[in-house]
Amino acid sequence: MEESAKTVHNPTLSYSRLKEFKQCPLRYQLSMVNRIPQPPQMHLAFGTAVHQVLENLYALPRPERTHEAALADIPEAFRFTMDEHPEYEELFETEAEKEELQGRIRTVIDKYFLIENPSLLINAGRELEVQAVTDEGVNIRGFIDRIDRNPNDGSLRVVDYKTGKMPRPQYQQDALDQLRFYALLLTKAKKQTPARTQLVYLEAQQILPLDPQGHDLYGIEKTINQTWTRIEEALNKRYFTTRKGPLCTWCPFQEYCPEFGGKTPEMPEDRIEYLLQIRSQD
Ligand code: SF4
Repeated sequence: MEESAKTVHNPTLSYSRLKEFKQCPLRYQLSMVNRIPQPPQMHLAFGTAVHQVLENLYALPRPERTHEAALADIPEAFRFTMDEHPEYEELFETEAEKEELQGRIRTVIDKYFLIENPSLLINAGRELEVQAVTDEGVNIRGFIDRIDRNPNDGSLRVVDYKTGKMPRPQYQQDALDQLRFYALLLTKAKKQTPARTQLVYLEAQQILPLDPQGHDLYGIEKTINQTWTRIEEALNKRYFTTRKGPLCTWCPFQEYCPEFGGKTPEMPEDRIEYLLQIRSQD
């Protein structure tokens, strides 16, 4: 049965927040505890609209999932994205700029149809919110772009779309950990480990696959538990350290960071209490 749902949730740890803390604890504090809004970015507007086109495509019956149908849906998917994210409006000064972005979306959709044939795939879920609890009580959550079911043996394949560049092999650990995270979520929530998980890099027309094994699930669960313990310690001490490095160049919080002469705001107590519920107490 196909599933598609976005539901209200209790506090959880997502893979992107786990990764953010590992990259820089203070950055996690500023985005998750202080909740300082990040300025809208064009690559996020682009990625969100592309995901919308593909989500809509897989909502269609299989024979109707054609290249033409996907291209025809772009204006509507773009409008929907803008309605859902009014903050993206400030990225565009003219209607021509919006047209230009839709042109880029068309190019990516053209490339997508060179690597997959949606009318052949049995879809078992799209934009699916999955929640689970680790063996140490950490509530985790993820949105899975698509799940395919093999009609022959019922096995599952998790697919996540990427609009950025595929990392070089020596930098693929984060990408693979994201796949392990999804595999753990499905194993715990649905009692079925996907036979395959993969990131589809749409612009590059490349696929990064991982067939998760027991050691992948064990390793990522350990990483989640250890990382959450470190976040809990920082929350309890009301202190998140900085980790200055090359990624600071793209950090939207430099003005609040002491490494760049900024002043870090105090953490709201109610937010700390809220986040400390991520580990179940029972
Ligand atoms: S500028 Fe660098 S050190 Fe400061 S919060 Fe951002 S990532 Fe961390």
